[in-house]
Amino acid sequence: MTDCIFCRIANGDIPVEFVYESADAVAFNDINPQAPVHVLIVTKRHIATILEMSDTAPGLFGELLKASSAVARGKGIDESGFRLILNTNADGGQEVFHVHLHLLGGEPIGPLRAR
Ligand code: AMP
Ligand code: ZN
Repeated sequence: MTDCIFCRIANGDIPVEFVYESADAVAFNDINPQAPVHVLIVTKRHIATILEMSDTAPGLFGELLKASSAVARGKGIDESGFRLILNTNADGGQEVFHVHLHLLGGEPIGPLRAR
């Protein structure tokens, strides 16, 4: 989708340094990092939400998990730890409607934010 920012990044229209790339996913630093390591792991294929992904291409989630492990190891935070976040729709705080995982680490991330 040409009007989707993550499609444009994933297909190279917007030049961004990838910290990881596979046949199905790319990973790059979040433009507004919330931790010393804040990487977004994005499917190459445009799928708006995890709801759609689970219905149409559930196997792709495994590729996102593989990418997460590779990124955590590459950033040297696999032992210290990290958090994966997947926001969905309005109450989940999803702003970009193209499936992505946030990988946060490099310091203690703390408890999940209280309501
Ligand atoms: P979400 O709220 O889960 O949809 O997260 C969207 C994330 O994308 C936010 O953390 C933004 O900071 C990040 N973001 C938006 N545009 C860009 C961009 N051009 N490059 C890197 N990260 C971006
Ligand atoms: Zn997209």
